[in-house]
Amino acid sequence: MVVVSLIALASAACAHAPRCDRLLAGGVVHVPGGPQRLEIAIADGRILALVPPAEAAPWRRAAAEVVDLAGAQVFPGMTESHGHLVGYGAALEQVDLDDAASLEEVVARVRHAAAKLRPGAWVLGRGWDQNLWTDKRFPTNRSLSAAVADHPVLLGRVDGHAALANAAAIAAAGITRATPDPPGGRIVRDAAGEPTGVFVDAAAGLLDRAVPPPTAADIERRVLLACRHLAAFGITQIDDAGTAAPELAVLRAMHAAGRLPLRVYVMLDTHDDGFLDGELAAGPRVSRDGMLAVRAVKLFADGALGSRGALLSAPYSDDPSTRGIEVTSEARMADVVGRAARAGFQPCIHAIGDAAVTRVLDIYERELGVRGDVLRPRVEHAQIVRPEDVPRFAQEGAIASVQPAHCIADMPWAPDRLGPMRIAWAYRWRSLLDAGARLCLGSDVPVASPDPRLGIWAAVTRRTPQGTPPGGWNPAERLSPAEALAGYTSWAAFAAFEEDWRGRIAPGFAADLTLLDRDPTAGDPAAILQAKVLRTVVAGRDVFVAGSGT
Ligand SMILES: [Zn+2]
Repeated sequence: MVVVSLIALASAACAHAPRCDRLLAGGVVHVPGGPQRLEIAIADGRILALVPPAEAAPWRRAAAEVVDLAGAQVFPGMTESHGHLVGYGAALEQVDLDDAASLEEVVARVRHAAAKLRPGAWVLGRGWDQNLWTDKRFPTNRSLSAAVADHPVLLGRVDGHAALANAAAIAAAGITRATPDPPGGRIVRDAAGEPTGVFVDAAAGLLDRAVPPPTAADIERRVLLACRHLAAFGITQIDDAGTAAPELAVLRAMHAAGRLPLRVYVMLDTHDDGFLDGELAAGPRVSRDGMLAVRAVKLFADGALGSRGALLSAPYSDDPSTRGIEVTSEARMADVVGRAARAGFQPCIHAIGDAAVTRVLDIYERELGVRGDVLRPRVEHAQIVRPEDVPRFAQEGAIASVQPAHCIADMPWAPDRLGPMRIAWAYRWRSLLDAGARLCLGSDVPVASPDPRLGIWAAVTRRTPQGTPPGGWNPAERLSPAEALAGYTSWAAFAAFEEDWRGRIAPGFAADLTLLDRDPTAGDPAAILQAKVLRTVVAGRDVFVAGSGT
């Protein structure tokens, strides 16, 4: 009723428009029916009315501020449906090893960074990917340990599922040849049984524990840094895939003090039962302003494909000795899903390999039954899905939370991992959609850039930004531009229970907006990557304005 009356009010061109905080004028607004020239009246963080320019005069008089958008294309505010907020901030502070073309380059970048730190301080880095190097085997730490001897060094692999540590870090963590592989992890060893420096999945946790924990000030600094970068990409909300207790405490304090720039949809980290039980007992909580939502939990069924941690139902094609890693037991996952469901929390489970996806769908079927439609369980990544599992997403009300940028990053080596039959099961967004599944799109930042333009480009073309392969990789699984955009807006809103107030531009909806200099969904897909973010608006406030340093 409220929505209907506001539209009527707007079109009546009444002489006394209601008070509004801002009027965004002169934009091309992408409302559900298609782009239209409309002025957006905003009050109290919400869209009060969408006004045709010819009827805008009273609104201009009533507005505290009129912003001329100069023809900008106005889209619903983008949501990053799967990212790691504090991890992104930490990554931005770390030695950036993305695109390092060799181990020598990794060592050189680390040595450069270490020279700026006090002796003994940890050097943290991330982003190395041996698949980009001439020698595609895991590296050893020999040259790193020699080059940087007096700092512990810990370098995360690009997928976050393996780490390279130097000798000082291994010593600081108390790891020796006698240290057994932890459950769900692997210490890579040489022929003599000595750790080589690479720690896969849960084994990397042995190193993480030796790093001094971040203070609340460290966490807040990282949140703000991450939010600044996300806002510059046009992102208005991040679904944080695994928020730990100290992080949630900081987010709550920031929100209470009005210092949280973007909306955060929390998926609770489930490693600490005390923390989890406390949050579940308190019940789902969404702040009145919708800036901070705590109503989901995050689990890991398996690892990642690049480090052969993804759990497959048959051995890896390029390493018959392994089927991947079960990161969390089926019993533990079922227990947490059951507890979360009873408390009204949405389960979100990382599942990349086909066996992991099957297992997660089995758990949802058993633990949730028909409540799947109510709790909207999510399969995070859903990367390799067996044909018989494709229709189960719709049947169980499970949402596939996918990251198109992974597809174009993985395609050089994913066929080797999976072999010719299973590769057809990978990144199968079109199959899922056609089978009635709901999708939401993201990047898994900092695993990939959170730039929605890259995600939309990857979803629409299945080509690298450089254009390979020309016809797209398994192009039958592409999404349309409108679908990819929905994956970042209205579908993402559904995945976070927000479809009644976010994800579309409509009266009564949150004034979360992403302004671009062109419409990436029209015409040549090249426009997707060329689009520039002009302004990002959250709850009516600018969190990014191009060229202003905001
Ligand atoms: Zn993730």
